Amino acid sequence: MKTAGYIGVNVCRFLLGITFIFSGYVKAIDPLGTQYKIADYLAAVNLAGVLPDWITLTASVGVSAVEFSLGIFLLFAIQRRQVSRLVLLFMGVMTLISVWLFLSNPVKDCGCFGDAIHLSNGETLAKNLVLLVAAVVVACRPLCMVRFISKPNQWIATNYTVVFIVVSSLFCLYDLPFFDFRPYHIGADIRKGMEIPAGAPQPKFETTFILSKDGVQREFGLDNYPDSTWAFVNSKTVQTEEGYVPPIHDFAICDGTSGEDLTAQILARKGYSFVLVSPYLEQADDTNFGAIDRIYEYARRENVPMFGLTASRNQAIRRWQELTGAEYPFYTADATTLKTIIRSNPGLILLKNGVVVNKWSHNRLPTEEELNGPLEQLDIGKINPASITEKITMIALWFVLPLLLLTLTDRLWAWTRWMKEKKRRNKIYQLLKKRRKMRKKIVAGNWKMNLNLQEGVALVKELNEALSADQPNCDVIVCTPFIHLATVAGLLNGKPISLGAENCADKEKGAYTGEVSAEMVKSTGAEYVILGHSERRQYYRETPEILKEKVELALKNGLKVIFCIGETLEEREANKQNEVCKAELEGSVFHLSAEEFANVVIAYEPIWAIGTGKTATSDQAEEIHAFIRSAIAEKFGKDVAEQTSILYGGSCKASNAPELFAKPNIDGGLIGGAALKCADFKGIIDAWKK
Ligand code: PEP
Repeated sequence: MKTAGYIGVNVCRFLLGITFIFSGYVKAIDPLGTQYKIADYLAAVNLAGVLPDWITLTASVGVSAVEFSLGIFLLFAIQRRQVSRLVLLFMGVMTLISVWLFLSNPVKDCGCFGDAIHLSNGETLAKNLVLLVAAVVVACRPLCMVRFISKPNQWIATNYTVVFIVVSSLFCLYDLPFFDFRPYHIGADIRKGMEIPAGAPQPKFETTFILSKDGVQREFGLDNYPDSTWAFVNSKTVQTEEGYVPPIHDFAICDGTSGEDLTAQILARKGYSFVLVSPYLEQADDTNFGAIDRIYEYARRENVPMFGLTASRNQAIRRWQELTGAEYPFYTADATTLKTIIRSNPGLILLKNGVVVNKWSHNRLPTEEELNGPLEQLDIGKINPASITEKITMIALWFVLPLLLLTLTDRLWAWTRWMKEKKRRNKIYQLLKKRRKMRKKIVAGNWKMNLNLQEGVALVKELNEALSADQPNCDVIVCTPFIHLATVAGLLNGKPISLGAENCADKEKGAYTGEVSAEMVKSTGAEYVILGHSERRQYYRETPEILKEKVELALKNGLKVIFCIGETLEEREANKQNEVCKAELEGSVFHLSAEEFANVVIAYEPIWAIGTGKTATSDQAEEIHAFIRSAIAEKFGKDVAEQTSILYGGSCKASNAPELFAKPNIDGGLIGGAALKCADFKGIIDAWKK
């Protein structure tokens, strides 16, 4: 479902992107054509001539640039959120316009694709509805668009796109459209373009006659025309079918003075003719008239006819002739046709046998060097095979290639960064793993005052068997009451379990009835002793000072200490856990040397979690374990801290042990209740295997 969503969004994004790029580009390379279209729309809403030309021309360049740029941004998934919203807005407005066009038909061709593709208003509406749906899909989930260029490098593509399209527009405005999609393109045979092929559909008309008889009027068609008793009143004819319209259907040249139609004569003329085209001479750019005169002189020298074509009246023609000294004749043609022939006012075309051989904007007229012989021998006198392929190659070199190179460089850069990051993470991971390896993973059981000798022996035997059959992945310690120590020590001989006591005296030796010294514990074969357990602090009033004595004696006698610390519920609620733990460490073990401290294992046991069934969450436990390690690092240095095992204790069970033990600062557990049954204890030991 998720993949389908991704595919859907990306299909829509490509559909929109490619359409926007195409429609934006074909408009951008014909800024005058787009300006004429804007003027058509303004005329349709009775605003013809309200806006000055420079505003409509700027709008033409601006709209095309926005459309093209949005297409590129979609294609490269640049600024995904903002761009998808802008595209939706654009499509919303365009769809509303096309609904209006469809219903009222104020402009025949919407101009969406410039002159490259002509659509009927119905087709435009259908196209825009499809694109609107695509725009909605993309705007709903813009982040599904897969990026081709990473964010830090997107500005390069953005600026390059905008500069490219605006410069292309300005270049085509100065010169002529890069691609000429009109029927008067170079190589076009005007007469052929006017031909109606045999068998082409003819336009169809229907006439209705209104006749009257005895004061009654009725309408009749040709098929039911009545007898002569009906008198003719009126008739109306409507076109029911368009028929075939040739690409060139409005080309007519007329002598403005005599009114003679010169179209056929001019098109049938053998050889070359220069035609200066100016839809309106009043608006024609006269800065290059010197170059036009030069061409006229050349034309006279070479006996090439030259004439002007304009829709302007005689007065404007005379003004032009006076201003430029033009001696060539001017004929009249339709302004729209002239604007279609060449996007320059004035512009020059070279005809040969009715075929358009060459075209120039007034800014790029042929130079004297180019006009250095008869036209037949000159490059400009031949149809330049500057083919579509050549032009597409130019665009590829100037636009597609740089963007492609940018994309490839960016991908390479992103890949190197990703590799570096991967390496860095791997290094950190390895370091953490190594450090973790350096300290022991421990699961220690604290039987407390729960099992008699026989029960204890039975449990140890069961554990022995279970762990011999399934070797643990950590150190296992059982801490038993004093009475079990010697017996259990005998049972554990050579087995993967270590032995510890739950307490030892704070005196070395002597008349302390009922007490068991560290030396005595050690003599049983035990290796560990639990000190500082909250139950001993609480019920037997073991103060930090007493514990300090016990720790020193234990270490002195070769025992390793499992030193317990932890806060009460009230202290946790008052957020004092760190403070409490640090004070307990400072009170009893932080006076040791680093060498002595190397034999201390810390057990963090929140008092509110011991035997209550409440466990600290793994994040809570990790947070305070990390704090304890940092306190040890502060006191003994980083290396000692990294080597110190810190166990968690407090309702630890087989079910929560894996999550707790997965935390980087939790090195195992001190287990109470769950250490009394082999299966429960083994379940926790096995957490290190997960
Ligand atoms: C303990 O007393 O050390 C202890 C962690 O107990 P329990 O596991 O039963 O909470």
